[in-house]
Amino acid sequence: MQGKFLFLGTGGSSGVPMIGCQCEVCTSSSPYNKRMRSAGLIRIKDKSFLIDVGPDFRVQALNHNIKHLTGVLLTHAHADHIAGMDDLRSYYFMEKKKLPCVLSQETFDEVKVRYHYMLTPLSPGKSVSAQIDFQILPDDFGTYELGGVTFQYFSYYQTGMKVTGFRFGNIAYVSDIREFTDQVVDALQGVDILVLSALRHTPTKMHFSIDEAIAFSRRTFAKKTYLTHIAHDLEYATTNAILPPDVRMSYDGMEIPIEISDKDIQ
Ligand SMILES: [Zn+2]
Ligand SMILES: [Zn+2]
Repeated sequence: MQGKFLFLGTGGSSGVPMIGCQCEVCTSSSPYNKRMRSAGLIRIKDKSFLIDVGPDFRVQALNHNIKHLTGVLLTHAHADHIAGMDDLRSYYFMEKKKLPCVLSQETFDEVKVRYHYMLTPLSPGKSVSAQIDFQILPDDFGTYELGGVTFQYFSYYQTGMKVTGFRFGNIAYVSDIREFTDQVVDALQGVDILVLSALRHTPTKMHFSIDEAIAFSRRTFAKKTYLTHIAHDLEYATTNAILPPDVRMSYDGMEIPIEISDKDIQ
């Protein structure tokens, strides 16, 4: 079945423009050089899955009129990926039921400290989580079903913090990756579309450089790779011009078709 993937945000942790920066990209008038914190939305049938809820989530939800979410998936607990979680309460208020949120135990351990009030019962005797139905992934690698859609997940570590990647049908979302095991590469074999973080040309401890992202993409044999989580160092058009044809810069609001096998959808 055909669905869509929407790039809600494609920026690194500071977003683009960066506060106070006067560089060529931060002062560019091109909409392709405006990047909110990275997040994605998978739409299939009547279902919508949000990947990451960064500090720009409220504006992303308003811009794209996201009135309903089937569920949320979190990659990890850094602020640029979870700082908008308070706004998920809107979905509880609209739908009067807890919003499922899938995450690793390690991510949950961080989230429950910062959003402890989301786990506090609204009144005594009610369930443990008040507004969010946190669902912990049972392993580092595996498959999981959320809202009638089965996806695969895999794990890696970003300077000691566990990060989860997700694969829905022919698309995989891999953010904040630098170190990984062969098992991650194995989990991505046969994927058509790879959404992959790459911060800038020079490597950092936490993120792939452009060259490292391309090398990783080659190991997965993805047909098309879209770079996301992009810093202000990279101008959209000039960077796209030097990338291989199958590796493209993404931009906020970009939407691409995806395919999920009927057997993975209930
Ligand atoms: Zn990040
Ligand atoms: Zn800048």
